[in-house]
Amino acid sequence: MNTAATSFPERNAAEVAELVLAPEAAAPEVRERRARQRRQMYVGQVASYSLGASVLLIYAYDGTISVDIASLFWFGGLLIIGTFTVLSEAGIGDRFTDHYLTVFQISAHMALQFVFLLSVPTIGIAFICVLFLIFAFGTLRMTSAQAMITWTLAAIGLAAVFLASDLPIGMPVATRLQRTASMLCFVLVIGQCAFLGLFGATLRKILYQRSIELKAAYQRIEELAELDELTGSYNRRCIMRLLDAEMDKSRRASTSCAIALIDLDWFKRINDAHGHPIGDEVLRTFAITIFANIRPTDCFGRYGGEEFLLLLPDTDGEAASRMLERLRSIVADLDWSAFSPGMRVTISAGVVTLRDVDTADTFLARADSALYSAKAQGRNRIATN
Ligand code: GH3
Ligand code: MG
Ligand code: MG
Repeated sequence: MNTAATSFPERNAAEVAELVLAPEAAAPEVRERRARQRRQMYVGQVASYSLGASVLLIYAYDGTISVDIASLFWFGGLLIIGTFTVLSEAGIGDRFTDHYLTVFQISAHMALQFVFLLSVPTIGIAFICVLFLIFAFGTLRMTSAQAMITWTLAAIGLAAVFLASDLPIGMPVATRLQRTASMLCFVLVIGQCAFLGLFGATLRKILYQRSIELKAAYQRIEELAELDELTGSYNRRCIMRLLDAEMDKSRRASTSCAIALIDLDWFKRINDAHGHPIGDEVLRTFAITIFANIRPTDCFGRYGGEEFLLLLPDTDGEAASRMLERLRSIVADLDWSAFSPGMRVTISAGVVTLRDVDTADTFLARADSALYSAKAQGRNRIATN
């Protein structure tokens, strides 16, 4: 069944095809988007370390730890983030499938927490809490293999700290300030984990939306691969494939099958007299007229230039000739003067029915020879062979 040419979506087909079939063509665009996403992530990490350092300052104010610990924690975090920002901006990450360098980032941040856990075990639980955050960040990006690697590293580190040492790892709650700082550790980490969860859900929603868009783009490409852009009829490749299929079907079901090669008369003159764009409009209008007057089971395709092939399944020679005669008179009687005063458009067609000995080539050759005789007899007529 044919469909008339549909209007093109906002991206033209070539653009869609390029994006879908050759993603590397869009690489600069994709790289820029990824760099933007990484920048957002680094800003989030800076905010997170700043919050962590603020809590450590409360412990410092209380005298539980020295202020240097809070500053070192903050600078340590910034050093890691800064290093990965430089790598990101230099495009190093883009060379890897995982452009976030997730395992390296997680390992670096985890190492920092372990250094502080060993150095200030009295508030060790605070640094262990940060491990949860690091993994919450990681889950936005990690593959299962990366999750296994980083989790194993974390497990080894924790086992070493808890089992291979007697460090008094704790969470001080003796004073009001210590209780406040300890509570804030948990509250902030839970809040940030929740925020990251929401962020992940948004990412998933975007991905889902993208997959829908991609499906639509593929469908459009498939349509374009079958349709002639100007007339919306099947293109030559498609109509030839349909011809083969129709011949097979007709032979299997022992039904008759007719085809018609239709050619616009004196079309070169139309182009010469009214211009090529008007010629295009005539072709489009002719195709729409045919679509409006054939059966849903008939197939109409552009064979080349101003020549079209109409497949008429389950149709004998007489019915096919009648149908083509009707189409011929509809086209001839159409008011073409809207395109240009006094314009007339007529068609000639060669109609043939399938014979046992026919191949697609001989079937078409017979239709072509019938068309030739229609032209020779004076055009604006149907001939059979
Ligand atoms: P005949 O009655 O013998 O078929 O004469 P004709 O002028 O139609 O045939 P000819 O083969 O001499 O010329 C066909 C013309 O169709 C020439 C070509 O420029 C024009 N044509 C082919 N494709 C297109 C198209 O997509 N748009 C336009 N505007 N013209 C086309
Ligand atoms: Mg012609
Ligand atoms: Mg022609």
